[in-house]
Amino acid sequence: MTMTIVPHESACLRCLFNREPPPGTLPTCDTAGVIAPIVNVMASIASAEALKFLVGAGTRNAGLINVDLWENTFDSFAVARRDDCVACGQGKYEYLEGARGGTMTASLCGRNAVQVNPGRGRALDLTRLAEQLRGVGEVSVNEYLLKFSIDNYELTIFPDARAIVKGTDDATVARSVYAKYVGV
Ligand SMILES: [Zn+2]
Repeated sequence: MTMTIVPHESACLRCLFNREPPPGTLPTCDTAGVIAPIVNVMASIASAEALKFLVGAGTRNAGLINVDLWENTFDSFAVARRDDCVACGQGKYEYLEGARGGTMTASLCGRNAVQVNPGRGRALDLTRLAEQLRGVGEVSVNEYLLKFSIDNYELTIFPDARAIVKGTDDATVARSVYAKYVGV
């Protein structure tokens, strides 16, 4: 599936799926597998959408495109914005802000990586953190992110304190690596 989301203009993902399905109810990339060519199909559609958006021409995907290469089905659905949408209607970004409190983690499907989000209201000075980490492991930093490699882990840390810990799919390990080097 691919959907083009233009903030405050088109429907957002949450207009379509208000809540994520409960854990364990749907197959994942790791349990069901992915037919490799679909990756190229979806990447091509998404790239074309990005080009159309950037040049302001062409007909953008106004809904959801669903492609099943195994069954040869190509469908597209219109998706309307919902005024009562928690995200784009009410402006509450619960998943981004960690509104449920505490550190949130999410395993990134098939990537051997976990996203660690310490929650709302945090901000990191990446330049200062880079100085602290330089003596410990390999660090590169710019204004958008800091990359830090240590042992078998690679951390990508963002200014809002969110990080992707690569090298594990275990949330507890990811949290402990994060706590060890970022220290929130
Ligand atoms: Zn929405």
